Amino acid sequence: MTAKMIIMCFSYWLSFSYLYRNIYFTMKLLLDRILQDGRCFPGGILKVDSFINHQMDPDLMCEIGKEFARLFAESGVNKIVTIEASGIVPAIMAGAEMHLPVVFVKKKQPKTMENMLVTNIHSFTKDRTYTVCISADFLTKDDKILFIDDFLAFGNAAQGMIDLAKQSGAQIVGFGFIIEKVFQHGGDALRDAGYRVESLAKVLSLDDCEIKLEDA
Ligand code: 5GP
Repeated sequence: MTAKMIIMCFSYWLSFSYLYRNIYFTMKLLLDRILQDGRCFPGGILKVDSFINHQMDPDLMCEIGKEFARLFAESGVNKIVTIEASGIVPAIMAGAEMHLPVVFVKKKQPKTMENMLVTNIHSFTKDRTYTVCISADFLTKDDKILFIDDFLAFGNAAQGMIDLAKQSGAQIVGFGFIIEKVFQHGGDALRDAGYRVESLAKVLSLDDCEIKLEDA
């Protein structure tokens, strides 16, 4: 083996181990945090409001944004879409990393919004159905969107996004979730329909108030 080949192998190994360490670090950070600070509630609800969706940990959110950016780097995405409120932070972090615009679907219809696209989304945590909206000015047939949200449960928000995308002619290139609750099967329906779904943490079960995570 020549010196040139040895240097090449070494640099490949270095960049691979650097990448692997970063991915592993982000995932480990998130999984450890869920196990440490997550709390489960009856009805299959995981409370992560001390670091994700009420009080927020910017360092963790920044790593989450980087991970979504890495995962979808080659997807052709030109816009990130999310739904208020808890999806906004991870979406904006990914958007900053990818230098892409971020649009959020609104849960209240502003009187001033023109060219409004609307759909209904049922929230099982709040047990109510929202009529949500997005301006057709910001979701168009030229858009290839990545939908980012904090949780994937039954997939109601994701299905609402699919409906809005259909109305506008936009293409969905993928879905990114911080936490997927696998046992509520929203992910199965999306994957079966052919969508790319990436979830940074997968909750396998919350039975008996014990948080069981994949790969933890
Ligand atoms: P889905 O639409 O997939 O049924 O539920 C996803 C939406 O409901 C997310 O936008 C999220 O805000 C909320 N959600 C679903 N499950 C949970 C949960 O276990 N904990 C929290 N905090 N929010 C959840």
